[in-house]
Parts: sequence; C-alpha cells; structure tokens
Amino acid sequence: MQALTYQGKDHVEVKNVEAPKIQRGDDMIVRITVTGICGSDLHLYKNGISLSEDYIIGHEPMGIVEEVGPEVKNVKKGDRVVIPFNVGCGDCFYCNNQMESQCDNSNPHSDNGSLFGYSEQFGNYPGGQAEYLRVPYADFTSFVVPESSELEDENVLFLSDVVPTAYWSVEHSGVKQDDTVVILGAGPIGLMAQKFAWIKGAKRVISIDHVPHRLEHAKRTNNVETYNFEEHDEIGGFLHQSTQGGADVVIDCVGMDGTVASSDHGPSNDQNISPIITASESVRKFGTIQLTGVYGINADNFPIGDLFGRNVSLKMGQAPVIHLMPELYNMIENNEFDPTDIITHKMDLKDAPEAYDIFDKKSDNNIKVVLKP
Ligand code: NAD
Ligand code: ZN
Repeated sequence: MQALTYQGKDHVEVKNVEAPKIQRGDDMIVRITVTGICGSDLHLYKNGISLSEDYIIGHEPMGIVEEVGPEVKNVKKGDRVVIPFNVGCGDCFYCNNQMESQCDNSNPHSDNGSLFGYSEQFGNYPGGQAEYLRVPYADFTSFVVPESSELEDENVLFLSDVVPTAYWSVEHSGVKQDDTVVILGAGPIGLMAQKFAWIKGAKRVISIDHVPHRLEHAKRTNNVETYNFEEHDEIGGFLHQSTQGGADVVIDCVGMDGTVASSDHGPSNDQNISPIITASESVRKFGTIQLTGVYGINADNFPIGDLFGRNVSLKMGQAPVIHLMPELYNMIENNEFDPTDIITHKMDLKDAPEAYDIFDKKSDNNIKVVLKP
C-alpha cells in the first residue's frame, strides 16, 4: 500500500510499504478514505519529536472497516468509522474516566499515553496517512458514523482530533459565561477553539498570530478580535493592558515550533517557550493558561515565579478525545458549528510531501490540508 513516511527533518515521502494485518483479536483494519495533516505532525517534520526513518505518520483518519478481529463486537466490516488520535484500551482507570489520552495499557514503551503515527514514545502505532490502518482496541478506539447519517466524510473527519481537542481545551481551561479568552495561534486548533469559546458564552475572544490570511479567516468566520504579534513590540504587555489586567483564560494553540513573539525571550535551551511567555504576560491574576500546543522536552526560563506570584493555574496535555466524539457528532448534526470551514486544501495522498511543505510554510493561503488516499 501507499503511505506517507518520515525520512528526516523537512523530508517525508510516499512509499510502497506492507499493508497492516490483524495482530490481535480486538484489532480492525480500516481502508482510509480521508485523513488530515495536523500541526502535531509538523513537530515530527521539524524533528522536535524524533522519529525513525520510514515511520508512517498521521493520526486524523477515517474510512471504511475492511476486516475485524474475532473479539471485536461493536464494529463490523463495511462500517464508516472515524478514528480518534488517542489509542485507548477502554479498560483501564484512565479510559474509564474520560482520560483516554493517558491510557495505561496501550503504551508498553513509556508512561505517556498512545497516539497513532507518533513514534515509539507514544505507543509505536503506525499512522493513518496511508491506504490502510490497523486500529487496536477497535471497539473503544473508533467512532462509528450512524448508517443513517447524511453527513459527508469531511463533516465528521475532524472528530478524530481538531474538533474534540479544541472543545476539550475550552472546557478544561474552564471558559465560562462573560469570560475574556485569548487564543494564541490561528491554525486549525486555534480557529476551532474560538468557536467553542463563543459557544461557552465568552464575551470577548481574541486571536493572536502573525500569518495575515489566518487572522483574516479568524475575523471573517469566527468574528473574533485579531492581532498580529509582529505589529506589537510587546504583545503580552499589550494584551494585559487591552484586557484591563489580563484575560480570564489564555489558550496556547501554538506549541514548541512557534515563532518567537516580539516581547518574548526567545528559545530557552532547545525548546521555544515563546507562547508560554506571552500567555503568562496576558493572563489575569487567578486566571488559567491551557497549553494545547505540544511541547517535547524540558526548558529553562519557564516563568514559574511569575505564574506562582500571580496565582495562575496551568493546565496542559494531549486531549482525551474518545469520550467527546458522540456529543460533538450530535452538535455537528445539529449545525451548532461548522467543522469544515478550515479546509483550504484537498490533495491526493501521493502529493503529501507537497502538502506538508504548504502546511509548514502556510503558503497558498493554507489553513488545513486533507489527503485522499
Ligand atoms: P498550526 O501549526 O497550523 O498552527 C499554529 C499557528 O500558530 C500558526 O498559524 C502560527 O503562525 C501561529 N504562531 C506561531 N508562533 C506564534 C506565537 N508565538 N504566538 C501566536 N501564534 C503563533 O497547528 P494546529 O494544527 O493548529 O495545531 C496547533 C498546536 O496544537 C500544535 O502544537 C499541535 O501540535 C497542537 N495539538 C495539540 C493537541 C493536544 O491534544 N494537545 C492535539 C492537536 C494539536
Ligand atoms: Zn492532530
């Protein structure tokens, strides 16, 4: 089968590789119909998280069930399924308590939870930017789209990651009625989080980025206030002032590959924590910072004293998405938000290297690429 493989920094290739097979009784094989490229894949592409050569990337897939193992009960051949980025066993304390991103059983390689296409450290499950995907714990690690559904693949695809990750970011950070919310990053995750901040009743939603077409998109589709951090000498200080002492909640949807914003101190050791510095400067006393953007290693210069001194709560991590898929599916079916307006590029899997380049450089007015095997 064809699959997108990692070949080194800034280098991916579509290769012919062996198709996956059922390995355990609770596995299934899915024929992928459409699959996303995520900002998290860029951390692999940029070598922020190390990956071995030929590793298959991708954790935002959906498709048609091709084959199920003998122990699979809730999914059958021919079902249309969305595959969450988390791999959860469905049986441990974490999976049973809506914390599937830290499943205790699916990762024999480390104490992290597991996700598809994200290296040995995260469970060593080959990814979904491919023609076929092996899904372990198929009953739990899937969402079956109801047969009666009239929604197109693209309307439900982002239940795999973008939609529940953004929703969880807003919930986990406790956004409530009348809050002021600053969202750093106007990529797919930040743009989706803006929608949920409004749905939760925020009175002011502010989007920060430096890519003009993404900020324009944020203003046009989500009606948020936008600021380009390159146009402000001190973006954190500016936000602190503009929000009269800081926002109730700041959500970082950037992560370690972000560009260093003007007022920030720059990379600290190897790790760029620029968004955390902006967040720390722009959150109010007793406010909350949610780090949804991914960070890979430890870093010095972390503003622990500033955060402690101002009673700031800090939350973070991989989103547990599996338990959120049914309720968010219902919201999509009821037209409560549009999950598709971030799609700017639909490309063939064979053109995935070009797609990575466009998504990385944000060229051609790119926001989100979906790939069709
Ligand atoms: P993306 O790369 O498309 O978007 C990031 C945006 O941040 C870009 O538009 C970029 O211009 C902007 N940016 C860069 N530096 C900035 C700065 N200093 N301040 C403000 N904005 C800045 O990626 P995405 O798909 O939207 O994902 C965003 C982040 O969320 C990534 O780090 C990704 O790994 C992470 N993510 C986390 C989870 C989770 O479960 N925690 C799930 C999915 C994605
Ligand atoms: Zn993702």
